[in-house]
Amino acid sequence: MDSIIIKDLEALACHGVNPEEKINKQRFLFSVELDEDFEEAAFRDDVDYTVSYAAVKKYIQAFCEGNCFDLIETLAARLAENILIEFPRANAIELTVKKPDAPMSGKFDYVAVRVKRKRTRVYLALGSSEGDRNGYLDLAIDSLKGDKHFTNVKESGRLLTQPYGGVAKGEFLNSVVECDTVYAPAKLLEALQSIEKEGGRVRKERWGDRTLDIDIIFFGDEVVGSADLCVPHPDMQNRLFVLEPLAELCPNKLHPLLKKRVRDLLAEASARA
Ligand code: AMP
Repeated sequence: MDSIIIKDLEALACHGVNPEEKINKQRFLFSVELDEDFEEAAFRDDVDYTVSYAAVKKYIQAFCEGNCFDLIETLAARLAENILIEFPRANAIELTVKKPDAPMSGKFDYVAVRVKRKRTRVYLALGSSEGDRNGYLDLAIDSLKGDKHFTNVKESGRLLTQPYGGVAKGEFLNSVVECDTVYAPAKLLEALQSIEKEGGRVRKERWGDRTLDIDIIFFGDEVVGSADLCVPHPDMQNRLFVLEPLAELCPNKLHPLLKKRVRDLLAEASARA
């Protein structure tokens, strides 16, 4: 991966826990490494095809000077996320914020924090079995498109399927969405649950009827196994209503645990059906 690097860019601002730090500006130094693929820009020799480092510099200074946080951790984390949102050509960022005049006794060069953030391609399965099913899926797509943490939102075709798991009674309308997100997995789950809520979903029984259900199928090639999130979705390889629309969007994607491509998982599940 190619990178754009800016080192020790200076800005004067009021970040700090102490009351005097809210009044007296002090120095902050920003070092940023933005990952980006330069191939197209280098081939064309055209600044419109790359991230402008001058624009990044301006953005960092405006963000630093236009906000007032207690913690440099907050400054770094929010700035990193906002840079990824503002500059969609950047795929990942490593940002260091130094505070050379931190209110601390003793001799030192600076105090610093470093954050790493990235954009990830994710696949989400949508389903609705109650009420205006097309309307609920539209709502999910509109919510994703309206949230700046998501880009390149693309939906597969929608298909009507029979309920799965023996609890729900209504037919389901299903689709899969491909998009890029700057959210980490837990934050992504939170964001999707609030879209489900917007869709009027009340959690009743497992596999029961629902106005809107959104599952995370893939989060890049990452494997997540926390208390409330399991990714890749543990049952996706058995669900034709996920595999069919998924194969429309990414037939050659490799399942990071099963080490099989989506098209082959679909063929195997179809043979079993
Ligand atoms: P349901 O929406 O009824 O399918 O179940 C949602 C619950 O499953 C949520 O509370 C999540 O914490 C949990 N969960 C575990 N893995 C996933 C996943 N890959 N996508 C969505 N929810 C998940």
